[in-house]
Amino acid sequence: MPVHLQIEASRGSARAGKLITPHGEVETPVFMPVGTLASVKGVSQDVLEELGVEILLANTYHLYLRPGVETVRRMGGLHRFMAWDRAILTDSGGFQVFSLNDLRKVSEEGVAFRSHLDGSSHFLSPEKATEVQIGLGADIIMAFDECTEYPADRGRVRASMELTARWAERCKNYFEAYKYEVPWEGSGQWPVVSGQDPVPSTQSLFGIVQGGMDAELRRESAARTIDIGFPGYAIGGLSVGEPRELTRDVVLSTLEHLPSDKPRYLMGVGTPEEIAQYAQSGVDMMDCVLPTRAARHGLLFTSQGKVSIKQARYAQDDGALDPACDCRVCQRYSRAYLRHLYAANELLAQVLNTVHNLHFYLTTMRTVRAWIRAGDGTGAEAT
Ligand SMILES: [Zn+2]
Repeated sequence: MPVHLQIEASRGSARAGKLITPHGEVETPVFMPVGTLASVKGVSQDVLEELGVEILLANTYHLYLRPGVETVRRMGGLHRFMAWDRAILTDSGGFQVFSLNDLRKVSEEGVAFRSHLDGSSHFLSPEKATEVQIGLGADIIMAFDECTEYPADRGRVRASMELTARWAERCKNYFEAYKYEVPWEGSGQWPVVSGQDPVPSTQSLFGIVQGGMDAELRRESAARTIDIGFPGYAIGGLSVGEPRELTRDVVLSTLEHLPSDKPRYLMGVGTPEEIAQYAQSGVDMMDCVLPTRAARHGLLFTSQGKVSIKQARYAQDDGALDPACDCRVCQRYSRAYLRHLYAANELLAQVLNTVHNLHFYLTTMRTVRAWIRAGDGTGAEAT
Protein backbone atom coordinates (compact mmCIF):
# COMPACT_ATOMS: atom_id res chain seq x y z
CA MET A 1 0.00 0.00 0.00
CA PRO A 2 1.65 3.24 -1.11
CA VAL A 3 1.27 6.65 0.49
CA HIS A 4 -2.20 7.82 -0.39
CA LEU A 5 -4.40 10.87 -0.10
CA GLN A 6 -7.71 10.74 1.70
CA ILE A 7 -9.69 13.73 0.39
CA GLU A 8 -12.20 14.92 2.99
CA ALA A 9 -13.38 18.28 1.64
CA SER A 10 -13.10 20.31 -1.52
CA ARG A 11 -13.73 23.87 -2.57
CA GLY A 12 -13.32 24.86 -6.20
CA SER A 13 -10.12 23.13 -7.31
CA ALA A 14 -8.77 22.94 -3.74
CA ARG A 15 -8.98 19.88 -1.55
CA ALA A 16 -8.30 19.20 2.11
CA GLY A 17 -7.65 15.82 3.61
CA LYS A 18 -4.99 13.51 4.96
CA LEU A 19 -1.89 12.04 3.45
CA ILE A 20 -1.54 8.56 4.95
CA THR A 21 2.12 7.55 5.38
CA PRO A 22 3.96 4.77 7.26
CA HIS A 23 5.02 7.44 9.77
CA GLY A 24 1.69 9.04 10.50
CA GLU A 25 -1.00 11.11 8.90
CA VAL A 26 -0.35 14.52 7.41
CA GLU A 27 -3.08 17.16 7.14
CA THR A 28 -3.17 18.54 3.58
CA PRO A 29 -2.63 20.92 1.93
CA VAL A 30 0.69 20.89 3.75
CA PHE A 31 3.82 23.02 3.85
CA MET A 32 6.94 20.90 4.44
CA PRO A 33 9.85 22.62 6.20
CA VAL A 34 13.24 21.89 4.65
CA GLY A 35 15.76 20.01 6.77
CA THR A 36 18.62 19.86 4.28
CA LEU A 37 21.09 17.83 6.36
CA ALA A 38 18.47 15.97 8.44
CA SER A 39 18.09 19.14 10.49
CA VAL A 40 15.86 22.18 10.14
CA LYS A 41 18.63 24.69 10.83
CA GLY A 42 18.37 26.03 14.36
CA VAL A 43 15.19 24.20 15.39
CA SER A 44 15.17 20.97 17.38
CA GLN A 45 12.78 18.13 16.64
CA ASP A 46 10.68 18.65 19.79
CA VAL A 47 10.03 22.26 18.79
CA LEU A 48 9.09 21.14 15.27
CA GLU A 49 6.58 18.74 16.84
CA GLU A 50 5.20 21.53 19.01
CA LEU A 51 4.83 23.70 15.90
CA GLY A 52 2.69 20.94 14.40
CA VAL A 53 5.10 19.86 11.67
CA GLU A 54 3.88 16.48 10.37
CA ILE A 55 6.29 16.01 7.47
CA LEU A 56 9.82 17.26 6.79
CA LEU A 57 11.92 17.38 3.65
CA ALA A 58 15.57 16.31 3.58
CA ASN A 59 18.04 16.60 0.69
CA THR A 60 19.53 13.46 -0.81
CA TYR A 61 22.48 15.24 -2.40
CA HIS A 62 23.65 16.73 0.88
CA LEU A 63 23.08 13.57 2.95
CA TYR A 64 24.77 11.43 0.30
CA LEU A 65 27.90 13.57 0.69
CA ARG A 66 27.63 13.97 4.46
CA PRO A 67 27.31 11.78 6.55
CA GLY A 68 26.86 9.34 3.63
CA VAL A 69 24.02 6.93 2.98
CA GLU A 70 25.76 3.93 4.61
CA THR A 71 25.95 5.74 7.94
CA VAL A 72 22.29 6.72 7.84
CA ARG A 73 21.25 3.22 6.74
CA ARG A 74 23.20 1.56 9.56
CA MET A 75 21.61 3.96 12.03
CA GLY A 76 18.19 2.67 10.95
CA GLY A 77 17.34 5.30 8.35
CA LEU A 78 16.61 8.99 8.69
CA HIS A 79 13.74 8.60 11.15
CA ARG A 80 15.86 6.89 13.76
CA PHE A 81 19.02 8.80 12.92
CA MET A 82 17.39 12.19 13.45
CA ALA A 83 14.93 10.99 16.12
CA TRP A 84 11.88 12.00 14.09
CA ASP A 85 8.93 9.58 14.13
CA ARG A 86 6.78 11.59 11.76
CA ALA A 87 6.83 11.53 7.95
CA ILE A 88 9.85 12.50 5.85
CA LEU A 89 10.26 13.17 2.12
CA THR A 90 13.60 13.19 0.33
CA ASP A 91 14.24 14.86 -3.00
CA SER A 92 16.23 12.87 -5.55
CA GLY A 93 19.30 15.09 -5.68
CA GLY A 94 18.45 16.11 -9.25
CA PHE A 95 17.75 19.73 -8.42
CA GLN A 96 20.86 20.14 -6.24
CA VAL A 97 23.09 18.59 -8.88
CA PHE A 98 21.45 20.88 -11.45
CA SER A 99 22.43 23.85 -9.27
CA LEU A 100 26.11 22.89 -9.42
CA ASN A 101 26.39 24.32 -12.97
CA ASP A 102 30.09 24.07 -13.83
CA LEU A 103 30.61 21.02 -11.63
CA ARG A 104 28.28 18.62 -13.51
CA LYS A 105 27.99 16.68 -16.78
CA VAL A 106 24.71 15.11 -17.88
CA SER A 107 24.51 11.98 -20.05
CA GLU A 108 21.83 9.40 -20.82
CA GLU A 109 23.22 7.27 -18.00
CA GLY A 110 23.11 9.97 -15.31
CA VAL A 111 24.97 12.96 -13.95
CA ALA A 112 28.67 13.15 -13.14
CA PHE A 113 29.41 15.92 -10.67
CA ARG A 114 31.94 17.23 -8.23
CA SER A 115 31.14 17.73 -4.58
CA HIS A 116 30.76 21.37 -3.55
CA LEU A 117 32.53 20.37 -0.31
CA ASP A 118 35.85 18.94 -1.46
CA GLY A 119 35.70 18.68 -5.26
CA SER A 120 35.56 14.86 -5.19
CA SER A 121 33.94 13.14 -8.21
CA HIS A 122 30.56 11.40 -7.96
CA PHE A 123 27.94 9.93 -10.26
CA LEU A 124 24.18 9.86 -9.73
CA SER A 125 21.98 7.82 -12.04
CA PRO A 126 18.25 7.10 -11.69
CA GLU A 127 19.18 3.76 -10.11
CA LYS A 128 21.80 5.24 -7.78
CA ALA A 129 19.56 8.11 -6.65
CA THR A 130 16.81 5.59 -5.88
CA GLU A 131 19.22 3.27 -4.07
CA VAL A 132 20.45 6.18 -1.94
CA GLN A 133 16.90 7.24 -1.13
CA ILE A 134 15.93 3.69 -0.14
CA GLY A 135 18.94 3.68 2.19
CA LEU A 136 17.94 7.02 3.71
CA GLY A 137 14.46 5.59 4.28
CA ALA A 138 12.14 8.58 3.90
CA ASP A 139 8.42 7.80 3.54
CA ILE A 140 8.21 9.54 0.17
CA ILE A 141 11.10 9.52 -2.28
CA MET A 142 11.37 11.27 -5.61
CA ALA A 143 12.28 10.15 -9.11
CA PHE A 144 15.66 11.40 -10.37
CA ASP A 145 14.90 14.08 -12.95
CA GLU A 146 16.70 16.67 -14.98
CA CYS A 147 15.68 20.16 -13.99
CA THR A 148 15.65 22.13 -17.25
CA GLU A 149 17.41 25.49 -17.08
CA TYR A 150 15.62 28.76 -17.84
CA PRO A 151 15.55 30.15 -20.41
CA ALA A 152 15.93 27.24 -22.85
CA ASP A 153 14.77 26.75 -26.43
CA ARG A 154 11.95 24.34 -27.19
CA GLY A 155 14.19 21.62 -28.64
CA ARG A 156 16.31 21.63 -25.51
CA VAL A 157 13.25 21.59 -23.22
CA ARG A 158 11.75 18.66 -25.15
CA ALA A 159 14.98 16.64 -25.04
CA SER A 160 15.31 17.31 -21.30
CA MET A 161 11.68 16.38 -20.62
CA GLU A 162 12.09 13.13 -22.57
CA LEU A 163 15.26 12.28 -20.63
CA THR A 164 13.35 12.83 -17.37
CA ALA A 165 10.60 10.48 -18.61
CA ARG A 166 13.14 7.73 -19.44
CA TRP A 167 14.83 8.23 -16.08
CA ALA A 168 11.45 8.05 -14.29
CA GLU A 169 10.87 4.59 -15.71
CA ARG A 170 14.36 3.47 -14.61
CA CYS A 171 13.71 4.84 -11.11
CA LYS A 172 10.46 2.92 -10.88
CA ASN A 173 12.03 -0.33 -12.11
CA TYR A 174 14.82 -0.05 -9.56
CA PHE A 175 12.42 0.90 -6.78
CA GLU A 176 10.09 -2.04 -7.44
CA ALA A 177 13.06 -4.44 -7.35
CA TYR A 178 14.62 -3.11 -4.13
CA LYS A 179 11.86 -1.37 -2.14
CA TYR A 180 11.90 -3.97 0.65
CA GLU A 181 15.48 -3.00 1.52
CA VAL A 182 14.28 0.09 3.36
CA PRO A 183 16.06 0.10 6.77
CA TRP A 184 12.93 0.36 8.94
CA GLU A 185 12.49 -1.96 11.87
CA GLY A 186 9.01 -1.76 13.25
CA SER A 187 8.87 2.02 13.18
CA GLY A 188 7.21 2.37 9.81
CA GLN A 189 3.87 0.60 9.84
CA TRP A 190 0.84 0.98 7.68
CA PRO A 191 -2.38 1.06 9.67
CA VAL A 192 -3.47 -2.56 10.05
CA VAL A 193 -6.83 -3.21 8.43
CA SER A 194 -8.86 -5.64 10.54
CA GLY A 195 -9.34 -9.02 8.95
CA GLN A 196 -6.42 -8.50 6.58
CA ASP A 197 -2.81 -9.56 6.77
CA PRO A 198 -0.43 -6.76 7.86
CA VAL A 199 1.09 -5.04 4.85
CA PRO A 200 4.89 -4.81 4.84
CA SER A 201 5.68 -1.13 4.98
CA THR A 202 7.62 0.37 2.12
CA GLN A 203 8.37 3.83 0.84
CA SER A 204 6.49 5.51 -1.99
CA LEU A 205 8.19 6.82 -5.12
CA PHE A 206 6.65 9.93 -6.69
CA GLY A 207 7.08 10.94 -10.34
CA ILE A 208 8.06 14.46 -11.41
CA VAL A 209 6.58 16.44 -14.31
CA GLN A 210 9.05 18.62 -16.21
CA GLY A 211 8.67 20.44 -19.56
CA GLY A 212 10.05 23.89 -18.80
CA MET A 213 7.64 26.79 -19.28
CA ASP A 214 5.93 25.16 -22.28
CA ALA A 215 2.31 24.18 -21.56
CA GLU A 216 2.21 21.54 -24.30
CA LEU A 217 5.46 19.88 -23.15
CA ARG A 218 4.18 19.95 -19.57
CA ARG A 219 1.01 18.19 -20.72
CA GLU A 220 3.06 15.57 -22.54
CA SER A 221 5.38 15.12 -19.56
CA ALA A 222 2.38 14.64 -17.25
CA ALA A 223 0.87 12.05 -19.61
CA ARG A 224 4.14 10.09 -19.89
CA THR A 225 4.75 10.18 -16.14
CA ILE A 226 1.19 9.05 -15.41
CA ASP A 227 1.61 6.23 -17.95
CA ILE A 228 4.57 4.90 -15.96
CA GLY A 229 2.36 5.10 -12.87
CA PHE A 230 3.22 6.59 -9.48
CA PRO A 231 1.29 7.00 -6.20
CA GLY A 232 1.89 10.78 -6.35
CA TYR A 233 3.04 13.42 -8.82
CA ALA A 234 5.23 16.46 -8.43
CA ILE A 235 5.61 19.57 -10.54
CA GLY A 236 9.33 20.25 -10.80
CA GLY A 237 11.55 22.63 -12.73
CA LEU A 238 10.06 25.85 -11.38
CA SER A 239 11.63 28.70 -9.39
CA VAL A 240 14.63 28.52 -11.72
CA GLY A 241 14.69 32.25 -12.47
CA GLU A 242 11.44 32.67 -14.40
CA PRO A 243 9.00 35.52 -13.60
CA ARG A 244 6.50 34.70 -10.85
CA GLU A 245 3.47 35.07 -13.16
CA LEU A 246 4.95 32.47 -15.48
CA THR A 247 5.47 30.07 -12.55
CA ARG A 248 1.81 30.46 -11.71
CA ASP A 249 0.64 29.89 -15.31
CA VAL A 250 2.74 26.72 -15.62
CA VAL A 251 1.51 25.38 -12.27
CA LEU A 252 -2.16 25.99 -13.08
CA SER A 253 -1.96 24.46 -16.56
CA THR A 254 0.00 21.43 -15.29
CA LEU A 255 -2.39 20.77 -12.40
CA GLU A 256 -5.18 20.16 -14.93
CA HIS A 257 -3.31 17.13 -16.24
CA LEU A 258 -2.63 15.45 -12.88
CA PRO A 259 -4.97 12.77 -11.51
CA SER A 260 -7.35 14.22 -8.93
CA ASP A 261 -7.14 11.19 -6.62
CA LYS A 262 -3.34 11.31 -6.14
CA PRO A 263 -1.22 13.73 -4.09
CA ARG A 264 0.08 16.71 -6.07
CA TYR A 265 3.36 18.16 -4.90
CA LEU A 266 4.68 21.53 -6.08
CA MET A 267 8.43 21.59 -5.49
CA GLY A 268 10.41 24.49 -4.10
CA VAL A 269 7.83 27.26 -4.28
CA GLY A 270 6.81 30.10 -2.45
CA THR A 271 6.06 33.10 -0.40
CA PRO A 272 3.18 32.79 2.11
CA GLU A 273 0.82 34.41 -0.42
CA GLU A 274 1.94 31.99 -3.14
CA ILE A 275 1.63 28.82 -1.09
CA ALA A 276 -1.89 29.90 -0.06
CA GLN A 277 -2.82 30.52 -3.70
CA TYR A 278 -1.37 27.22 -4.87
CA ALA A 279 -3.16 25.31 -2.13
CA GLN A 280 -6.39 27.03 -3.19
CA SER A 281 -5.65 25.90 -6.75
CA GLY A 282 -5.42 22.22 -5.84
CA VAL A 283 -1.80 21.65 -4.77
CA ASP A 284 -1.55 19.28 -1.77
CA MET A 285 2.12 19.51 -0.80
CA MET A 286 4.75 22.25 -1.00
CA ASP A 287 8.23 22.91 0.32
CA CYS A 288 10.48 25.94 0.24
CA VAL A 289 13.65 27.11 1.95
CA LEU A 290 12.27 30.66 2.07
CA PRO A 291 10.89 30.76 5.66
CA THR A 292 14.00 29.18 7.19
CA ARG A 293 16.60 30.90 4.99
CA ALA A 294 14.94 34.32 5.25
CA ALA A 295 14.73 33.91 9.04
CA ARG A 296 18.49 33.45 9.26
CA HIS A 297 18.84 36.74 7.38
CA GLY A 298 16.48 38.54 9.74
CA LEU A 299 13.57 38.63 7.29
CA LEU A 300 10.32 37.77 9.04
CA PHE A 301 6.86 37.14 7.61
CA THR A 302 4.03 38.65 9.63
CA SER A 303 0.31 39.35 9.32
CA GLN A 304 1.31 42.97 8.61
CA GLY A 305 3.80 42.11 5.89
CA LYS A 306 7.52 41.48 5.88
CA VAL A 307 9.67 42.76 8.75
CA SER A 308 13.43 43.20 8.40
CA ILE A 309 14.32 42.90 12.05
CA LYS A 310 17.84 44.26 11.56
CA GLN A 311 16.50 47.78 10.98
CA ALA A 312 17.36 50.43 13.57
CA ARG A 313 13.70 51.44 13.78
CA TYR A 314 13.05 48.34 15.91
CA ALA A 315 15.86 49.04 18.40
CA GLN A 316 13.46 50.35 21.03
CA ASP A 317 10.21 48.80 19.83
CA ASP A 318 8.82 46.82 22.74
CA GLY A 319 5.87 45.42 20.77
CA ALA A 320 5.55 41.79 19.70
CA LEU A 321 7.03 40.89 16.33
CA ASP A 322 3.54 40.06 15.07
CA PRO A 323 0.72 40.97 17.50
CA ALA A 324 -1.60 38.56 15.63
CA CYS A 325 0.79 35.61 16.00
CA ASP A 326 0.44 33.10 18.83
CA CYS A 327 3.85 31.48 18.40
CA ARG A 328 6.18 31.10 21.37
CA VAL A 329 8.41 33.89 20.05
CA CYS A 330 5.71 36.51 19.59
CA GLN A 331 4.17 35.58 22.95
CA ARG A 332 7.38 36.22 24.81
CA TYR A 333 9.85 38.55 23.10
CA SER A 334 9.83 42.13 21.84
CA ARG A 335 10.98 43.41 18.46
CA ALA A 336 13.70 45.33 20.32
CA TYR A 337 15.09 42.11 21.81
CA LEU A 338 14.93 40.23 18.49
CA ARG A 339 16.66 43.15 16.79
CA HIS A 340 19.36 43.16 19.46
CA LEU A 341 19.95 39.39 19.12
CA TYR A 342 20.29 39.75 15.36
CA ALA A 343 22.60 42.78 15.55
CA ALA A 344 24.78 40.99 18.11
CA ASN A 345 24.89 37.87 15.91
CA GLU A 346 23.54 35.70 18.73
CA LEU A 347 22.67 32.11 17.81
CA LEU A 348 19.31 32.60 19.48
CA ALA A 349 18.35 35.14 16.79
CA GLN A 350 18.40 32.41 14.13
CA VAL A 351 16.48 30.00 16.34
CA LEU A 352 13.70 32.42 17.30
CA ASN A 353 13.38 33.90 13.80
CA THR A 354 13.09 30.44 12.27
CA VAL A 355 10.50 29.29 14.80
CA HIS A 356 8.33 32.33 14.05
CA ASN A 357 8.61 32.04 10.26
CA LEU A 358 7.80 28.32 10.31
CA HIS A 359 4.83 29.00 12.56
CA PHE A 360 3.66 31.68 10.12
CA TYR A 361 3.87 29.28 7.14
CA LEU A 362 2.17 26.46 9.01
CA THR A 363 -0.58 28.80 10.20
CA THR A 364 -1.05 30.01 6.62
CA MET A 365 -1.75 26.41 5.59
CA ARG A 366 -4.04 25.80 8.58
CA THR A 367 -6.06 28.82 7.46
CA VAL A 368 -6.30 27.50 3.91
CA ARG A 369 -7.39 24.07 5.17
CA ALA A 370 -10.11 25.70 7.29
CA TRP A 371 -11.17 27.78 4.26
CA ILE A 372 -11.50 24.64 2.15
CA ARG A 373 -13.45 22.76 4.82
CA ALA A 374 -15.72 25.78 5.43
CA GLY A 375 -16.69 25.83 1.77
CA ASP A 376 -16.95 22.10 1.24
CA GLY A 377 -19.18 21.25 -1.68
CA THR A 378 -19.97 24.83 -2.63
CA GLY A 379 -17.60 24.88 -5.58
CA ALA A 380 -16.79 28.48 -4.65
CA GLU A 381 -13.83 30.12 -6.30
CA ALA A 382 -10.71 31.01 -4.37
CA THR A 383 -10.70 34.59 -3.15
ZN1 LIG B 1 5.24 34.57 15.89
